[in-house]
Amino acid sequence: MSDCECLSRCPFFNDRMAEMPAMAHLMKKNYCQGDFLKCARHRVLLGKGAGNVPNDLFPNMQARADELLSGQ
Ligand code: SF4
Repeated sequence: MSDCECLSRCPFFNDRMAEMPAMAHLMKKNYCQGDFLKCARHRVLLGKGAGNVPNDLFPNMQARADELLSGQ
């Protein structure tokens, strides 16, 4: 468990997404300051590059990350 290297610039962690989920605080604890390799945003960032992470992708959107990573 450690901090994600994206903390300082991540729109989710810095509350810069259009709509933040009610569980954002918990998600930050579980993903951003915990198991960040399981974060959907982080997975897409690693697989496709920072420029290909959708603005509205939340850390728990694994199915959408799978689609993006498979090129769908
Ligand atoms: S874990 Fe995901 S949401 Fe959190 S800072 Fe890293 S990339 Fe952003």
